[in-house]
Amino acid sequence: YDDRDGKIWMDGELVDWRDAKVHILTHALHYASSVFEGERCYSGKIFKGHEHSLRLIESARLLDIESPYTAEEIDRAKQEVLDANGFTDAYVRVVMWRGSGSDMGVSAARNPVRMAVAAWEWGSYYGDAKWQGAKLDIAKWKRPSPETIPTAAKAAGLYMICTMSKHAAEAKGCSDALFMDYRGYVAEATGANVFFVKDGEVHTPLADAFLNGITRQTIIQLLKDKGVAVHERHILPEEVSGFQECFLTGTAAEVTPVAQIGEDWHFQIGEVTRGIADDYEKLVRA
Ligand code: PMP
Repeated sequence: YDDRDGKIWMDGELVDWRDAKVHILTHALHYASSVFEGERCYSGKIFKGHEHSLRLIESARLLDIESPYTAEEIDRAKQEVLDANGFTDAYVRVVMWRGSGSDMGVSAARNPVRMAVAAWEWGSYYGDAKWQGAKLDIAKWKRPSPETIPTAAKAAGLYMICTMSKHAAEAKGCSDALFMDYRGYVAEATGANVFFVKDGEVHTPLADAFLNGITRQTIIQLLKDKGVAVHERHILPEEVSGFQECFLTGTAAEVTPVAQIGEDWHFQIGEVTRGIADDYEKLVRA
């Protein structure tokens, strides 16, 4: 993805896409001292852009990284990138990381904190699955305990098992993998949160050990606003066969229906899923 035209914001300046490079002794590359955001710009406006900037700063704080930028400065950097590339509808990726310091090692308190913003035009995250219903594998890895790693951060280190699980899923012809958490409860997919529907009511895992997605929070509010009961609670895998609909939510995924999880769990793309996908689509472009 590095050889193309365009502009990337790096440490306060717009640079050519091809020149947006870091040194090989970057701390983040060796020790995962990196946090990031994924956002979508619709018709010229980033949906909940400021919330994403605040989450980036909070993710950094959770990793003991003090953001050199305020949320307003991050907002401006994102807009600069969209303007420089002439995008009104795009995915925006912000990344903040520890650079290389005066020596190389785990300790990095004095290494510079760096930030970059890139944007590109990006359609549906799950391709055709967005309309036909995604098929999910069940990940062999578990989402870790919040006592093991700061699970509320959108931090690079938390994605190692996501990439591994997604590769395993793709090898089986699935679009994504569903994780259980360290206790065995249903958690999330590798880059999206999960919801279930039963008898017109919505059930979604309590976000106490995984990323409480901005889309997830938006969807819960939209459902409540239209009078749908939402139960945020611990969900056991044994319960999943009793649900009628299932969908994923995320900035990239938006609302994506799920048709199948593992070999045994099948879902219809029903009224609640279709309705909330429509509502979300309207909201982001409002
Ligand atoms: N979980 C994970 C692991 C993710 O990567 C994402 C995407 N950021 C989400 C959930 C959904 O978060 P959001 O709705 O804020 O994009």
